[in-house]
Amino acid sequence: MRVLVVGGGGREHALCWALQRDLPDATLCAAPGNPGTARHGSNLKIPATAVDELAAAVARHRIDLTVVGPEAPLAAGLVDRLRAAGRAAFGPTQAAARLESSKTFAKDVMRHAGVPTAASQSFTELAPARAYIARHAVPLVVKASGLAGGKGAVICATRDEAAATARAMLAEGRLGDAGREIVVEQFLEGEELSVLALTDGEQVQILPPAQDHKRLGEGDTGPNTGGMGAYCPVSLATEELIERVRREVLAPTLREMAERRTPYQGVLYAGLMIAADGTPYVLEFNCRFGDPEAQALLPVLPGITRHLAEIAAGRWRPRETALAATRAAVATVLAAPGYPDQPELGAAIIVPRDLEPGTLVFHAGTERDPEGGLRVHGGRVLTVTGLGDTVGEAARRSTDACELITFSGKTYRRDIAWRETREAPAGAARG
Ligand code: AMP
Repeated sequence: MRVLVVGGGGREHALCWALQRDLPDATLCAAPGNPGTARHGSNLKIPATAVDELAAAVARHRIDLTVVGPEAPLAAGLVDRLRAAGRAAFGPTQAAARLESSKTFAKDVMRHAGVPTAASQSFTELAPARAYIARHAVPLVVKASGLAGGKGAVICATRDEAAATARAMLAEGRLGDAGREIVVEQFLEGEELSVLALTDGEQVQILPPAQDHKRLGEGDTGPNTGGMGAYCPVSLATEELIERVRREVLAPTLREMAERRTPYQGVLYAGLMIAADGTPYVLEFNCRFGDPEAQALLPVLPGITRHLAEIAAGRWRPRETALAATRAAVATVLAAPGYPDQPELGAAIIVPRDLEPGTLVFHAGTERDPEGGLRVHGGRVLTVTGLGDTVGEAARRSTDACELITFSGKTYRRDIAWRETREAPAGAARG
């Protein structure tokens, strides 16, 4: 079996790692990949968004299965192209990926399907947006409808701020095309939880919920990022809550997508706000594994990539409706100095060879220099996953390894999973 992983971040390295674990006889390629994916197979010098080139490479290399990591190639229709050419691909079609690429579309699906979500309205013109803002209580959340790389949602404490944000997106083009349409929605209170599920459009297998940490700084402070860490399992996610999410969110959404003749296949990722009464409100859908959630989840779900292959081949008969994690996992992102605004590139990276067993290092923004040394090549440089019998033990392993890896200006959070380890934070144990 020949497998192509599309993308070049930490998530894609984790996918390659998991594919090799689960399908040891498979030949792996990544496009564009990174020095981490190169350890598991060959990297093809093709950007993740070059749909034509990727389709040609799949034919040339006789790829049996393509697993698409990031959202951009899904939104650009890579899966449609590959399927039209008779090639198996894991991920939603362009039309189904609109659940992520258009928040307005997602809101419409949720409204029709009766899925709990914040009251909202979409706008392409500033004047009606301002009138709506004037009529509604603050805080309000103003969101770019399109793909904005995690920078598209702004929580506005005052109406002036909401109006200014709407203006920046609609009239001043702050987020480019992504912000030409906006969603203005009610602010929800509660606990955030990410629930990811595998689906072939009808059957659903829920993965152990993971928790992402978006803010740059410890204690959830500082600017938003692509994600600074993630962990699982999450104690907030009781079996009862998971079943509510299945019944009230995943099943009706998939039914609605099927009724619209755009059935959804792949990973459906629901970003949820769990209200005080336990209702799971959807903040957003993603149409892929999260990064860094994948680096926490894939290591503790042996066999998961066989499900991806079967879903893509249209012959998935899952025995369980949910997958259980074999261990706890904490994934910490090591970022470059200046991330997320102006990451400084080029520093030499040293990863010690003798990290503690139960530690995995996934590459993201790295490259090899001509001498074979490893250099910083992107904002998020590495993800370090610690495994353990408890979240506390996994967190300690991850943090210990992060300390031993060196590059100039290394930036990371020592408090990933703090909600679980609050009694004895991983960082506090060592002062
Ligand atoms: P989104 O891109 O829609 O997931 O939003 C990014 C982040 O903004 C979420 O993870 C939440 O922390 C926050 N957020 C988004 N929508 C809301 C909302 N309606 N109420 C409260 N917080 C929100």
